[in-house]
Parts: sequence; structure tokens; C-alpha cells
Amino acid sequence: MVAENKIEWVIQCDNCGKEYDIPDKISTSLEDMEGTEQLVLETAPICPYCNTLNSRLAKHVF
Ligand SMILES: [Zn+2]
Repeated sequence: MVAENKIEWVIQCDNCGKEYDIPDKISTSLEDMEGTEQLVLETAPICPYCNTLNSRLAKHVF
């Protein structure tokens, strides 16, 4: 999927709390979770700041 709205989503690291862009190499899909759209990554991203494996759920930036 070509996610033009990908830029509206970031990953927030569970460990250090920093936010970073979704890596281009990871494909994503929008899923309906209890009535709200949730961007889910195909594979878990790794935080570029602390190298911790993070959640596959992106955080919406408004
Ligand atoms: Zn981190």
C-alpha cells in the first residue's frame, strides 16, 4: 500500500519515549480498532535512538 498519510503517523518508543518516522522498508496497513483507524506495521520497528524493538502500532499525529 502506498500510504500518503504515513507522514501523519510516527512510532513512539516504549523504552526512551522518543518519536521517529516509520521506516520506509516496513509496509503498513490501516486497521479498524474499535471504531478508530490504527496504522499497524508489518514488522516491529527498532528505535534508532536506543535500538529497542518497539510496538507495531503507530501513533497518530494530528
Ligand atoms: Zn528508544
